[in-house]
Amino acid sequence: MTGKDVKKAAELLSKGKLVAIPTETVYGLAACIDNNEAILSIFHAKNRPAFDPLIVHIADLNWLDFLVSEIPEKAKRFMEVVWPGPVTLLFRKSDQVSDLVTSGNPTVAIRFPSHPMSLEMLRLLGKPVAAPSANPFGYVSPTEAAHVENQLGEKVSYILDGGPCRVGLESTIVSFVNEPVEVLRLGGMSLETLEKYLGEKPVLKISTHSNPQAPGQLDKHYATSASLILSDDIIEDFLENRQKLVGLISFQNGYPDLAFAHREVLSPDGNADEAASRLFAAMRRLDESGVEVILAERFPDEGLGRAINDRLHRASHRKP
Ligand code: AMP
Ligand code: MG
Repeated sequence: MTGKDVKKAAELLSKGKLVAIPTETVYGLAACIDNNEAILSIFHAKNRPAFDPLIVHIADLNWLDFLVSEIPEKAKRFMEVVWPGPVTLLFRKSDQVSDLVTSGNPTVAIRFPSHPMSLEMLRLLGKPVAAPSANPFGYVSPTEAAHVENQLGEKVSYILDGGPCRVGLESTIVSFVNEPVEVLRLGGMSLETLEKYLGEKPVLKISTHSNPQAPGQLDKHYATSASLILSDDIIEDFLENRQKLVGLISFQNGYPDLAFAHREVLSPDGNADEAASRLFAAMRRLDESGVEVILAERFPDEGLGRAINDRLHRASHRKP
């Protein structure tokens, strides 16, 4: 069931139920941090492998004491600037955090989301939730309540509808476990912004193989059912596939001369933030349109364009 009842969402969570919650990045599938049975049901509902750890969501910096064994000074300064926001921080975990949440890792990933409904809900609940994205494992993340309803509707007790996600890409993951600071996943905060707030250049440690440090980074992820091609030459790739029903995801150009069966132009004004917020919904619409092939135009490798390219690359069936 979908609705806007924040109190009901908190009550269901405290009873051990799963609730989908809106955040500025994507919708999360939440369970109470201290209920192992509820945490396990997240993995079942998503068909998510147990080795893929969950992100813990907080609404109060004081909650960190319970979750984390040690916070470096550098991280304290950083989190005060970037939170609430689309950045997840990785720390050494405390003994209180269940191994189910962290998939046995000695580290815990934590985020302070900025969506007012989820913050209100978390404050009512009075404790953190563990919440990965609310999609079946391997599929595109949900950026609207209806996306969750369509795919996980029966497996979730309640979907808290906070409207379309403002950022639309998963959080950027930054690890403070080692020196220098590492970026484990590109996401809703661009590298440029992150560097500015961090005051130093982090090391990029974005894995692409199948037992990665940040498992959301599995090579085949964020995938549509139709085969997606990340294209450096839309015209050439269209001509190669013209016997098929072909759909387009592009930045600004609608390629009016090519007979696409379905077009998704993400930002006619050339704004990468707007494009990011529209990407996942566009991928879903293309899947529903029945096209056989999706040609996705590569974005300029700057700002959120980098994270968009990362997601399109992971969704693509033709890897270079
Ligand atoms: P999702 O919220 O679905 O994007 O998934 C959470 C992602 O956060 C995982 O797939 C990992 O990439 C990352 N993550 C969570 N906890 C950890 C951890 N302890 N160490 C490394 N990465 C983590
Ligand atoms: Mg996910």
